[in-house]
Amino acid sequence: MAAFVPPPGAPRPNNNSNTPPPPPPNYNAQRYPDSLSDNMQNLNLNRQQQPPIMPNAAPRPSPFGQPPPFPGASAPYSRPGPPSARPAAPPQGTFPPGTAAVRPTGPPPGQSSPFGSRPPPPGSFPPGVAPTPAPASSPFQRTGMPSGQVSMPPAPSSGPGPFSGGQAVPPTGAPGRMSNGPPAFGSGAVPGGPRFPPPGNLSQPLVGPPPPPTSVAPPRTPTMHSVLGGPTPPGSIAQQAPPFSSGPQGMRPPPPGSPYSPQSWPMQQGQVPPPPQFPGSAPPPQYPGSSPPPQYPGSAQPPRMYGMPPQPLPNQSMTTISSAGSQTGTPVGSSKIDPNQIPRPGPSSSVLLHETRQGNQANPPPPATSDYIVRDNGNCSPRYMRCTINQIPCTADFLTTSGMPLALLVEPFALTHPSEEPIQVVDFGESGPVRCSRCKGYINPFMKFIDQGRQFICNLCGFTDETPRDYHCNLGPDGRRRDADDRPELCRGTVEFVASKEYMVRDPMPAVYFFLIDVSMNAIQTGATAAACSAIHQVIADLPEGPRTMVGIATFDSTIHFYSLKRVEQPLMLIVPDVQDVYTPLETDVVVQLSKCRQHLEDLLGRIPTMFQTSKTAESAFGAAIKAAFLAIKSTGGKLLVFQSVLPSTGIGALSAREAEGRANISSTEKEPNKLLQPVDKTLKTLAIEFAEYQVCVDLFITTQSYMDIASISVIPRTTGGQVYYYYPFSAVTDPAKLYNDLRWNVTRPQGFEAVMRVRCSQGIQVQEYFGNFCKRIPTDVDLPGIDCDKTIMVTLKHDDKLQDGSECSFQCAVLYTTLYGQRRIRVITLSLPCTSMLSNLFRAADLDTQFSCYMKQATNEITSSPLVRVREQMTNLCISSLLSYRKFCATVSSSGQLILPEALKLLPLYTLALIKSTGLRTDGKIDERSFWINHVFSLSVPLAVPLVYPRMVAVHNLDIKKDGDESPIPPVIPLSSEHVSDDGIYLLENGEDCLIYIGSLVDSGTLQQLFGVNTADELPTQFVLQQHDNSLSKKLNDVVNEIRRQRCSYLRMKLCKKGDPSGAFFLSHLVEDQSPHGPSYVEFLVHVHRQIQIKMAS
Ligand SMILES: [Zn+2]
Repeated sequence: MAAFVPPPGAPRPNNNSNTPPPPPPNYNAQRYPDSLSDNMQNLNLNRQQQPPIMPNAAPRPSPFGQPPPFPGASAPYSRPGPPSARPAAPPQGTFPPGTAAVRPTGPPPGQSSPFGSRPPPPGSFPPGVAPTPAPASSPFQRTGMPSGQVSMPPAPSSGPGPFSGGQAVPPTGAPGRMSNGPPAFGSGAVPGGPRFPPPGNLSQPLVGPPPPPTSVAPPRTPTMHSVLGGPTPPGSIAQQAPPFSSGPQGMRPPPPGSPYSPQSWPMQQGQVPPPPQFPGSAPPPQYPGSSPPPQYPGSAQPPRMYGMPPQPLPNQSMTTISSAGSQTGTPVGSSKIDPNQIPRPGPSSSVLLHETRQGNQANPPPPATSDYIVRDNGNCSPRYMRCTINQIPCTADFLTTSGMPLALLVEPFALTHPSEEPIQVVDFGESGPVRCSRCKGYINPFMKFIDQGRQFICNLCGFTDETPRDYHCNLGPDGRRRDADDRPELCRGTVEFVASKEYMVRDPMPAVYFFLIDVSMNAIQTGATAAACSAIHQVIADLPEGPRTMVGIATFDSTIHFYSLKRVEQPLMLIVPDVQDVYTPLETDVVVQLSKCRQHLEDLLGRIPTMFQTSKTAESAFGAAIKAAFLAIKSTGGKLLVFQSVLPSTGIGALSAREAEGRANISSTEKEPNKLLQPVDKTLKTLAIEFAEYQVCVDLFITTQSYMDIASISVIPRTTGGQVYYYYPFSAVTDPAKLYNDLRWNVTRPQGFEAVMRVRCSQGIQVQEYFGNFCKRIPTDVDLPGIDCDKTIMVTLKHDDKLQDGSECSFQCAVLYTTLYGQRRIRVITLSLPCTSMLSNLFRAADLDTQFSCYMKQATNEITSSPLVRVREQMTNLCISSLLSYRKFCATVSSSGQLILPEALKLLPLYTLALIKSTGLRTDGKIDERSFWINHVFSLSVPLAVPLVYPRMVAVHNLDIKKDGDESPIPPVIPLSSEHVSDDGIYLLENGEDCLIYIGSLVDSGTLQQLFGVNTADELPTQFVLQQHDNSLSKKLNDVVNEIRRQRCSYLRMKLCKKGDPSGAFFLSHLVEDQSPHGPSYVEFLVHVHRQIQIKMAS
């Protein structure tokens, strides 16, 4: 074909495919005979006459000769093991009673399901890559480390871990007797409990050691085995339980308009939602054989009307809100809107079973924020990929008319529910997976086999291809291949292929971790350095086992200090003083197999804080340090984990405290783009692109008490598939536990290295843009030096042709990646949705959580380049335009006095209001907080998008009151309005990042005593650490916090807020339904939206 699109994995245009793969790293390549000085502690590494040559120094375009269009691989790597005390996972197939009722019945007993007939997992993979050669001896002289002055913290395993139930002793100087609560998950026999400030029993996600890599000879013929779950070959991990647990998710924001939730609203104060039902208490799930299709949201339910009697509309569910019987253009009196009748998230529903297809039709997924169990029967799980609309508009004009966005939100490594079937791994041997020879799309359940199975028609490009001879199979009477149900690639929406040699230009990279720690005066004095060293020390035990795991470490202030870890005796410090033109010591000395240097590394980490204890160096050569660390690992690629505490002030990439300029100019920041939210220049971006080319992923842990210019430095993680963690203002009392937990999750969560991702669409639709944390060098692919379960990529779509009504449109995301254990995989995620030319279908198929997530990402993209007022206006207009379209073309209610909302989008105004009032779209916060927020949203997953702006609030003063039948420790959510916050109450509010505990002014001292061990709120320290006291109320509060951390996969930062002081005002500013300086009340906003719709209807 003329327009040949290079397959993912095919040579990139700018890459010479004939270039031989880079040779394996040569550890003996260079020596620097003259580069050592004899200084003990400050061994200056002077620049060589000839710069050190790093093996494979030439930028490697991509690990694959060709950009694999598909990124893919799931990592069975380090997936956290289930917390020991975690609630039992629902048995597969078990549903809550309520769920089963609406589900189709399963096949008669004895009838085999496609799952039952699958061959057992072979369980073996191609042998891993050979261990890297042992590094040659270092040319550097060794210098003894200062000894005797460092008091090493107790070995990690000896102290109470945040996860272990032991009593923790607060660090000296800690104000309190508060600890972070009970061991979250059981008594942890977790290796490496935190040894650094154990604030008590920290509740923490438990993560088990990664399963050992599996090794097996690749079958010649396609075979498959399960990567995770179920019959799981040892060592597979791909789907793992959420790090922090896995039980049913408690009270997630109720699925708006979901057919799954019995009652979506109105929720009144004091009203107790029906107890959520959890798996385990229900009959086993029954799977449909040929049962009736499930009901779709909005499709079959009676319309819910507010303020008026229900008016059944065929195929439409909607919400109407009566306001004054105003004329068009007349302000609607807000007094006419009953605050108790406006749409709000309902109580969470029980766990739902979601079948991705039924009756050969796509089944719209439950809301992303709900708790569900997926059964993949053709379409991918919505956890991996979901579309803003579950039907695809036939034309671009039609999409425009709807006012809705068309985009995919892809989270290729998303955590799954423990009851879900693991992703199947398929090995086609040396020939690799079957693909369309024109578009290079991967074989999937929607490729249609014809001509007795000899040919197949690609569902992406329409091309008719020959079936490879050894893949031929006859068709059954239903036109499907007879083996379709036995082959995961023909019956599952998500599969993983073992990559053949053609997908590699070199051996899959080893797991390389390089730690870079700020030891400038501020970092030392605030305890940030000690916290970082402690966290790393504890996490070493969680790094993947095996000869392919390499580590390195360096510290920096105004110079960079590497450490040679391969010495038999003490580590040697190697100083790089030149921070303008950086070089690095011999790689083989500073990046060493973990198994060969573990003790040295641990000793060193114990000494670093004291080694620099008396340092007066305030400057930070951050840019030079990351460049030098990059040079140390560029021959392999790997993860660079940076702990940074002060603004980079010297050397390459130095920044100025430009925040000061902005402060004087606050009033103008709403009228023009805020430059402080943009990177100051291209220096760091250029560096980041180079990092990405060499597969180096950078994560930044910012432990600071001052301005850091996150807008500039976050470019590095964003471009390399990394992440920013922000601890501001850093507290040596409360933050080390979070730092440790964040780091641990970072290295143990499901992830992949050196990945490339591409999304393909059926003819008529094409990818417009990718949005997320990656590097893009060619239009069709995104490069992901690192990809993990917390990263989501938005893919916006556009029409390039008309689609046929009634046909289906497919989307396929392929991710080629390397597992932690050095296996090359291609994860392929396929979704096929119906096309429609009926507007009412589009509204019925609208996915609110996904659309809103899309709007948030769009807003973050605008904030840095548009005036804030315009961004807020734009977000409001996006909300209005879809509601207007619905009002104009779908609603049958004619009264202009009613605001009519499509059922599926009835919470859009509330979420839009919340977005307008969010940290990123406000000017009262610190510029770094806004930059962090923006950066966070960039890769934020759909389930976490809504809570970030519309947090969950619950009352905790009355947790003791028994709720019958409710197994979730989290009480019912309360609307975010101050009228629901009483002075004699204590409330917890969390958004997935922060957890605020608010204490009213009239709280009973007995309650305070039980929860916090004090008689008045005044006695509580500012630096608050939640502790568990010996009473049931305190225990329940700790249970709530632990459950939230588990659900969010985040060790939330706790903040104590008291009525009457600034912290109280801070808490109240999160009540987005209230009128505030940042925006109108919810009722006022609805009135505004309604009025705008009326005006537009009349014009
Ligand atoms: Zn094709």
